[in-house]
Amino acid sequence: MNNHFSANLEKTGEVGYVKKQVQSIIYVDGLPTAHLNELIFFENGATGLVFSLGEKYVEVLFLSGERISVGDRATRTGGLVGVDVGDFLLGSVVDSLGKRIDGGGVTPEKTISIDQEPRGMLGREQVDTPFQTGVKMVDMVIPLGKGQRELVVGDRKTGKTLFLMQTLLAQAKRGTVCIYAGIGKRQQDIRSFLDFIESQGIQKNVITVLSGAAEDSGKVFLTPFTAMTIAEYFRDKGVDTFIIMDDMTTHATYYREISLQARRFPGRSSYPGNIFYIHAKLMERAGNFDTASITCMPVAESVLGDLSGYIQTNLMAMTDGHIYFDIDRFNQGQRPSVNPFLSVTRVGLQAQSPLVREVSRQVSSFLVQLENMKDFMHFGAEMSQGVKDTISLGDRVMSLFEQDYRNVVPVNATIYLVARVWAGLGKGEEKQSVVAKCNEIIKDYQTNKETQTRVDEMILGSPSFKDLVAKVKEEGRINEG
Ligand code: ATP
Ligand code: MG
Repeated sequence: MNNHFSANLEKTGEVGYVKKQVQSIIYVDGLPTAHLNELIFFENGATGLVFSLGEKYVEVLFLSGERISVGDRATRTGGLVGVDVGDFLLGSVVDSLGKRIDGGGVTPEKTISIDQEPRGMLGREQVDTPFQTGVKMVDMVIPLGKGQRELVVGDRKTGKTLFLMQTLLAQAKRGTVCIYAGIGKRQQDIRSFLDFIESQGIQKNVITVLSGAAEDSGKVFLTPFTAMTIAEYFRDKGVDTFIIMDDMTTHATYYREISLQARRFPGRSSYPGNIFYIHAKLMERAGNFDTASITCMPVAESVLGDLSGYIQTNLMAMTDGHIYFDIDRFNQGQRPSVNPFLSVTRVGLQAQSPLVREVSRQVSSFLVQLENMKDFMHFGAEMSQGVKDTISLGDRVMSLFEQDYRNVVPVNATIYLVARVWAGLGKGEEKQSVVAKCNEIIKDYQTNKETQTRVDEMILGSPSFKDLVAKVKEEGRINEG
């Protein structure tokens, strides 16, 4: 008999028997005072979570351990399913129950239940500090703030995960604790994620919470809750955190499977009716708090560019905006394939400096103007010089946003680049050469302290974008002699 089982049996004095099992759902009778989300031990050491309370049976969601048979005994623990937390988590890889799977040591400070109520209005603050992704297009056109919940949505293989890794890199370098919840992932995806953080030398600031595609549905289902609980632990210690949930459509699929096994009647789009509530409660746990912030990026997959799916639109309603990865743009070779028109940031702009806000508005409205003009061009209209100039500037702006996922760009370097392009950088040149020039400027900013100080001062001393462009032009004149 398992030690945990006997100890808990002694403590609670209630013994249950397994009556029936339907895949991950185990029907147990004889546990009259069990409560929702309580941790259950079986006599062979396996664990489960109370999923629902029926009149005759308690429905237990199988979590881990040896398989159960009918007639096995079960006992309550009096406690909820919890995760061991402590500083030892930094740099660790854990499973969806918070158990280390990288062979490292465990020195827990405490154990906290993974089903926390979101904090109320008290203790919450407005989003007021920029959250930099290091991705030029996002930091300029869809800027985010710390504590924002931003959905990352797009078709399969459009660069969603790479964008998230890039943001994670930018944030980990600044000392943010980054938590990656990989939900029902394939081995190969897990490998490339771990390789990435290792090759970038940022493990110390990253906590990876993983479940594999082949694991039990219950375990996969718990992944984002465990990750969020870990984020909350660091938040309460005053550390800013960034949490990625990759991805929530997979999460919903596993939950649907569990619900069908438990014979719940499927609701809209055949998802269980409470999936909205489950996801919303999870999203509410992120935000900007008086102690520190939890910035959260859930991921949703769309099919054939359709953003109107049930799970996707639910998530849009629960977040403060979304970044749309466009398959058409991806196929045209744009990297990252973000579509600036179909992306939204609801609380991000208010967190930016007046200059960033101005540049952001300028670039956004310019892109809209450009798009309208391009539509018009399809009619084969004769091009005036003004139209030609706009289109040329548009091409250069899009080239400026091209970015490899291993590079993160400080926001000042991006602002400076925009000003340079506005001042005429790369005019009349091929795309390749504009991209190369931009990369050179960024490299110079990143490696040359003098350039960095000069650019930072120039930006600091510019009350408006127009002013900055004028300064950049002046600088060009001096350099040319
Ligand atoms: P999945 O549906 O598998 O989750 P995803 O949307 O997360 O896919 P990624 O795995 O991030 O997509 O990216 C798919 C491919 O796109 C990458 O293997 C890479 O080749 C290419 N790619 C995307 N963005 C970039 C980028 N910024 N720089 C270079 N390559 C990129
Ligand atoms: Mg992905």
